Amino acid sequence: MPSNLYVECLDCGHQTPFTVSKPACPKCGSNWREARYDYAAVAKDWPALLADRPFDIWRYQELLPLQGPNMELTLGEGGTPLIRANNLGMMLGCPNLYVKDERQGPTASFKDRQAVITVAALKEAGVNEFVIASTGNVAISYSAYASRASIKLWAFLTSLVPAAKMREVAIYGTQVIKITGSYDQAKKVASEFAHQRGLSIDQGARTIPCIEAMKTISFELAEQLTRLLGPGETTPWRAPDWYIQSVSGGMGPIGVIKGFKELFDMGLVDKIPKVAALQAEGCAPMAHAWKQNRDTAIPVLSPRTHIATLATGDPGRTYTILRQKMLESSGGVIDSVSDEEAFRAMHYLAKMEGLSVEPAAAVAFAGLVKLVRASIIKSHETVVINCTGHTMPIERNILGEGWSRDIVFPQDGMEESQEEGLLAALSKVGIDRFPRIAIVDDNPEVRRLVRRILQSQGNYTLFEATNGREAVELVQREHPNLIILDLMMPEMDGYAVMDELKKSPDTADIPIIVVTAKELTPAEKDRMRGHIQRLMQKGDFMSDELLDEVRALLR
Ligand SMILES: *Cc1c(COP(=O)(O)O)cnc(C)c1O
Ligand SMILES: [Zn+2]
Repeated sequence: MPSNLYVECLDCGHQTPFTVSKPACPKCGSNWREARYDYAAVAKDWPALLADRPFDIWRYQELLPLQGPNMELTLGEGGTPLIRANNLGMMLGCPNLYVKDERQGPTASFKDRQAVITVAALKEAGVNEFVIASTGNVAISYSAYASRASIKLWAFLTSLVPAAKMREVAIYGTQVIKITGSYDQAKKVASEFAHQRGLSIDQGARTIPCIEAMKTISFELAEQLTRLLGPGETTPWRAPDWYIQSVSGGMGPIGVIKGFKELFDMGLVDKIPKVAALQAEGCAPMAHAWKQNRDTAIPVLSPRTHIATLATGDPGRTYTILRQKMLESSGGVIDSVSDEEAFRAMHYLAKMEGLSVEPAAAVAFAGLVKLVRASIIKSHETVVINCTGHTMPIERNILGEGWSRDIVFPQDGMEESQEEGLLAALSKVGIDRFPRIAIVDDNPEVRRLVRRILQSQGNYTLFEATNGREAVELVQREHPNLIILDLMMPEMDGYAVMDELKKSPDTADIPIIVVTAKELTPAEKDRMRGHIQRLMQKGDFMSDELLDEVRALLR
């Protein structure tokens, strides 16, 4: 245990030593308390101490409420990679976009931080039976660590939790209790059950080890951004301008702000990031209260979202604390997006960045798009998005029709004729009949982005040209069904290409989508009238928007 650790009551300020099994303030009875450390002492030794430790959650032990690392419990939590989101950044015109990939935790969500630290603290306190209520991921993660710690776990789950997640909880040996009702109702039943049996129950954001675990995200981000971008302006470590996360109870951002505040107080970073917390529109009590500038949220009694992970209808005091922390540091925003926007984000994250995420995590990315378009997030700012969890398996309503092509071929023994059958079946898939598209741009990054958009979401035969002259030759030779054309190019620009193609009846009618980084004057727009079918601004379209235009023009 860090020798200088104590807890401070958020209501009366009373300070006591930290004891896991005594969650309430002995003076006023409040359950809302926070851990404090001797930050000056830690700041002095930390950089040297950290240099020799592995990149995992235990490296921050001086600021964790534990006697020490629990290496019997560990499954390799923390130390998740920070990944640059190149394509998404280009599509949004926001180049400094980073993804904290919390899917890479042992049970594939960022709840692993909370679970390992809390279970370690329970173990130190001699607890061997524990109760939780969960929207899914907390139960999965606590189950894994309870198994390693030999703690009997009772998990109360709302019936909204996908069956695949319930089975995942059960396989670890946790007793699953399914409540046909909302998450808030499941919490009430769990609490009553724990009370009757005299068992400890997870108190969410009131559980000190939970908040302390979440703040390690900030510590990792500061170290990782420093490695990627160099130190802050006046400090050895760097903080991002924004931290974006989807929220249900709001524990993540509360911990993350606390973490950055500690680094700030220790002189390690020069700012605390603005926070963007995103909810699902059908269950957005915090977003509503934030917009109305209220410091308490009105509970949503019957959540209307398919995203069960985010179905906390009554955030209670957690909202008030989150809001207060945001206002006391750098501010930010709490907003919401629809289920449809989140499902759409799942597609472009997987297809454009190689990240398959669960709907709850996608809510943060859909929120990013919304906030960039509203100019709340500025294009020069450094943005970190917490990719909070992986979906496994892909839930049925996400993919829609036509995502697989089946090839069936006859089974008549002879190897040769089997092969012929396969080839005949392949030709039915129509690989030789794909629409032909020419991509014309002098910037290789843009060509790569457009190519990726088209190849990931449809079947096309693609051609590329790097300047106007090449483009004209290419079009005359290959007769594509569609041209995606840049305007500003060396040698021969996009306007000249259009003029040249108009001259021959062979090429005059090929539809053109102009994709340009340039703000066009009315005269320039006039010049293109009658030539092009669509105009798209670089840095301001998402992959599926370009694709919708392509599909409409090819029809
Ligand atoms: C728990 C969870 C959230 C919400 O986190 P809070 O900070 O507790 O509101 C978001 N995404 C995923 C995948 C989660 O498991
Ligand atoms: Zn008190």
